[in-house]
Amino acid sequence: MSLLCKLVPERCIACGLCQIEAPDIFDYDEEGIVLFAQEPEAHQQFVQPLEEANVTKAYQKCPVRAILLEKEN
Ligand code: SF4
Repeated sequence: MSLLCKLVPERCIACGLCQIEAPDIFDYDEEGIVLFAQEPEAHQQFVQPLEEANVTKAYQKCPVRAILLEKEN
């Protein structure tokens, strides 16, 4: 089972919480809108097992559901 993380940047309010929880995964554009640190153009990314706990915390803390998680078989 893999965890797929999707971003909905249109919803992001640039609060900065997700990078506190998962600094290696999330970064921001010049307006503070979320993107993937390693793949800024991507809107979805599989989460490495070591990052699952951090990304899940970021997902839970995002106030506007701009981060989505799906379990994939
Ligand atoms: S926690 Fe959500 S609203 Fe805040 S910066 Fe991250 S994606 Fe944007």
